[in-house]
Amino acid sequence: MSTFSIAIHGGAGTLVKGMMTKEKEAAYKSALEGALNESYETLLNGGSAIDAAEKAVIALEDSPLFNAGKGSVFTADETHEMDASIMDGKTLHAGAVSLISGIKNPISLARDVMEKSEHVFLAGQGALQFAKKLDYKIEDDSYFYDEFRHRQWLEIKDTDSFQLDHSAKKNSKFGTVGAVACDKTGNIAAATSTGGMTNKRFGRVGDSPMIGSGTYANNATCAISCTGSGEYFIKGVVAYDVSCLIEFKGLSLEEAASEVINNRILKIGGDGGLIAVDALGNISMPFNTEGMYRASKSSKGKTEISIYLE
Ligand code: ASP
Repeated sequence: MSTFSIAIHGGAGTLVKGMMTKEKEAAYKSALEGALNESYETLLNGGSAIDAAEKAVIALEDSPLFNAGKGSVFTADETHEMDASIMDGKTLHAGAVSLISGIKNPISLARDVMEKSEHVFLAGQGALQFAKKLDYKIEDDSYFYDEFRHRQWLEIKDTDSFQLDHSAKKNSKFGTVGAVACDKTGNIAAATSTGGMTNKRFGRVGDSPMIGSGTYANNATCAISCTGSGEYFIKGVVAYDVSCLIEFKGLSLEEAASEVINNRILKIGGDGGLIAVDALGNISMPFNTEGMYRASKSSKGKTEISIYLE
């Protein structure tokens, strides 16, 4: 049996030690721990990487603490538009949805696009029609309402600015969630889900639902889920860039992930981070911001649940 592992994130950004109350910090850590343990259990019981990654993201989408599913940020029209994507490293099958509303777990709809449609990427009304065809329940707006997010939006609603989630001292705190997993058979998978940016408009879409930018998985290289300034992560084709550095330059997972986050994406102005695993169960979680909500667990016995650069 080979090493199996899981890594998850709940966004990166200006997470400075001491700025959050102890209670809030504990709440974030406990939400991360819950999602981590649930999905690790799946792997332990012989479940697939794709099942574990989806399960972790569902748990994070269901928590109002993160900007995905329940707790998604508000658009300029006071609505929610969510994006998600998932990829299976064994088959290179992928599914993605964008600009959807009313769906409790966008990651499951992305998985259904992958498994139950002929397509990879469905957006907006079309994606919702697909969900209805599969008998998805359409949740009321009130399910997604979160007072904190609403206040964030009220502060900037009549301006032209749009803001990454949890922004504190500058516009850079990202609440997207993601998971990457390596199962007992050495298959890997990645999943990412987000509400995007507060006050976004014009149908703005970030990197999270874009295969190759916010999410990528290939058994031959790595599985990646990103969080950060989406526009830059799209231009940097970040997730696939890490994979390319492994495939074509022979870098290790750690070297490739760090090169992209601490050098290549920084050079073009992008801030954020990513989580990565490879088919040997190695884990890497670099970020170039003050912090990133993150957690990982490996069958080798190592568990980490962190927020700051420690
Ligand atoms: N990358 C996401 C986006 O641009 C934001 C985030 O990571 O929180 O939509």
